[in-house]
Amino acid sequence: MKYNNHFNTRVTPQVQAIPGSGQVANLGGGFSWKVTDAQQLERFLILGTEGGTYYVTEQKLTVENATSVVNCLAADARTTIDKIVEVSVTGKAAKNDPAIFALAIAAGSADPACRAYALSKLSQVCRTATHLFTFVEFVEGFRGWGKGLRKAVAKWYTEKDPGKLAYQIVKYQQRNGWSHRDLLRLAHASPPSELHQAVMRYAVKGTERTVDYPADQVPSELRLIWAFEQAKKSRDVKEVVDLIDQYGLTHEMVPNDLKKSPEIWSALLVNMPITATIRNLGRMSSIGLLKPFSAASKLVEARLLNPEVLRNGRVHPLQILSAKMTYQQGHGVKGNLTWTTDARLTQALEDSFYLSFETVEPSGKNFLLGIDVSGSMTWVQAGGLPGFTPNMTSAVMAMATARVEQNYHIMGFAHTFRDLGITARDTLESAMQKTHSGSFGYTDCSLPMVWALANNLLVDTFVVYTDSETNSRTAIHPAQALDQYRQKMGRNAKLIVCAMTSSNHTIARPGDPNMLDVVGFSTDTPKLISMF
Ligand code: CA
Repeated sequence: MKYNNHFNTRVTPQVQAIPGSGQVANLGGGFSWKVTDAQQLERFLILGTEGGTYYVTEQKLTVENATSVVNCLAADARTTIDKIVEVSVTGKAAKNDPAIFALAIAAGSADPACRAYALSKLSQVCRTATHLFTFVEFVEGFRGWGKGLRKAVAKWYTEKDPGKLAYQIVKYQQRNGWSHRDLLRLAHASPPSELHQAVMRYAVKGTERTVDYPADQVPSELRLIWAFEQAKKSRDVKEVVDLIDQYGLTHEMVPNDLKKSPEIWSALLVNMPITATIRNLGRMSSIGLLKPFSAASKLVEARLLNPEVLRNGRVHPLQILSAKMTYQQGHGVKGNLTWTTDARLTQALEDSFYLSFETVEPSGKNFLLGIDVSGSMTWVQAGGLPGFTPNMTSAVMAMATARVEQNYHIMGFAHTFRDLGITARDTLESAMQKTHSGSFGYTDCSLPMVWALANNLLVDTFVVYTDSETNSRTAIHPAQALDQYRQKMGRNAKLIVCAMTSSNHTIARPGDPNMLDVVGFSTDTPKLISMF
């Protein structure tokens, strides 16, 4: 017998661990590396665990991810909390809920310093009252209403200037059974000024009597509340349009029975935040406000294409993609709202998607972008967004790099190589369709490297979009395939693994300077790919 056939570190089937490498069994029946708690934290913050994965239920995946949060906090609470804040504040994730949840875990820690530091970051992570209601709901699973929590929630209210507080209170009145009245009562917040007192009394008592001024004497900080109360009573479109124009009411503050009026939406649109704009495209089209050549359509198009607006509004590319898919259907998800779509706006959404990533300088390197199109990538929703599976989000992430880098080639792989026929000219939709229709089979994550070597391709960076559950019985490990490629081609090629689910595996060899593990759907991922 040849001993080295059975034990060597350079050629190992994926269903066995590379000897001495520290690999562990993955869930697909193969072996890969377990990510560190810090990597898991980042995956959790960006991808969340909604819907679970092909292999793991939502419940189990959430427990695993939350355990990593706990471990990270135990190892270094401050760094962990700073990470939570950073991901939340920069808008790297499509949803803020994982960051809020992680902060709630920290706020319920047994370590008083950890609790205090987490609570000191409450306003940074919970920027809207909806975030705050979500936090309170989460945190009750980890602690009671002790002094620290009461003070932190009170501070959320008292540190805002009264005008900004009034905005939060009338815009976001309640969520999941929580209201401002509940929170203010629990927190025993004591108002730092008379104007705060007026706003907070209004929040608790909920009547305009607490801001009982003649129309021309309402202090500027309370005018929004005053205007909101006027709008509530009004049945007159013209009057409410004036209130919107003068006081900046948002659509949440306008009575529902006036929301069929194009004049109302036309007034709302002027200062509408970007996220509200993309969410209400269908509605604004259905009432005839958005149509070719209308001032409203021109304004929406300009807003969608303004990188500064996108950045300040923390719009995530997945949110834009989701809005685009809904808009181009011509009808709402529920209810009977229908509209005529405008190809100009569809195109603006497409362009906006690319603009909402962090700016990338093209590197000029040769990128082989390998999308895992095995069966497990067709399961569940990616990033908590219904309608998008990990293979589809992989396709649009590959597009984000293909649109920037001149030298790219997109391939698909499962247990075989797949020519997906995708180029930078594809629309997001066609890229997702081509990927989805080519998806089936088991998983061999070594294929991009093996295929490039077999064809003598001059690759600088392999980017593999995957859940890392590689499980080929015959093929070698992806890390070994990269070693072979580098050695036989004499090229200093690198491998970037884009995690498309919040599972706890990676095919990237830990500590290897030629391999990088990044989280699939972060707004800075294309930048990291080009820079590595
Ligand atoms: Ca798979």
